[in-house]
Amino acid sequence: MLKVQNIELFYGEVQALWDVSLEIKQGEVVALVGANAAGKSTTINAISGTERISGGKILFEDEEIQTLDSHEIVDRGIIQVPEGRKLFSFMTIEENLELGAYSKRGRKDMKKNLEMVYHLFPILKERSKQMAGSMSGGQQQMCAIGRGLMSNPKLLMIDEMSLGLAPILVTKLFEVMREITQLGITVMLVEQNVNHSLAMADKGFVLENGRVTMSGVAQDLLHDPHLKAAYLGM
Ligand code: ATP
Repeated sequence: MLKVQNIELFYGEVQALWDVSLEIKQGEVVALVGANAAGKSTTINAISGTERISGGKILFEDEEIQTLDSHEIVDRGIIQVPEGRKLFSFMTIEENLELGAYSKRGRKDMKKNLEMVYHLFPILKERSKQMAGSMSGGQQQMCAIGRGLMSNPKLLMIDEMSLGLAPILVTKLFEVMREITQLGITVMLVEQNVNHSLAMADKGFVLENGRVTMSGVAQDLLHDPHLKAAYLGM
């Protein structure tokens, strides 16, 4: 579904990505993991078209997308849930969700998608008229993911879903990710939380200093001695 091939990306003179390649198949949960400043957000910003690559290619459903504008990439079905949720605090949960349906893809099935979001996250339905800013961190994260789903994605990329959330809630959100893939949506998790995300994912890619240093079946990576020593303190 998505092939990132040997991409290079610079911020001014400073190179942030070196020869990064990833491949994601339809229906997978993929984890892109790495430490702070490894280049994870930069990689998904390149896929979303909010940052431009200077080398390599990005193919989505066998078509090159690296020169498209970000709104055209959204129209193709690649949706990013940004780090820090970026909700409108003084709008209700439902209004925030509806904003996700403003894209061309989202407008089509708005009612059906809202029902799907409320089915996945019943608490959002219960609190639909509450201000987003008054919700807990976990509920705000559900709302941010729900807003992404309102755009009718084929590929949903979620930046730091688990950051700052209690472990029990993180487990719950990872379970919902699995449900989302059963609806035909492919999920890419971008996480500093190496342990949790690899435990839940099918496949993983490890980024270090702007380079992919390891990739493979998530369970195999979890048992890799280098990864254990570097990220899991074992
Ligand atoms: P984090 O988990 O902290 O977000 P990350 O793995 O997502 O880390 P990036 O945010 O992609 O890392 O950053 C990769 C590198 O690029 C870092 O050295 C960062 O300082 C640099 N960088 C990121 N955004 C910019 C920018 N807009 N201008 C200049 N440098 C940037």
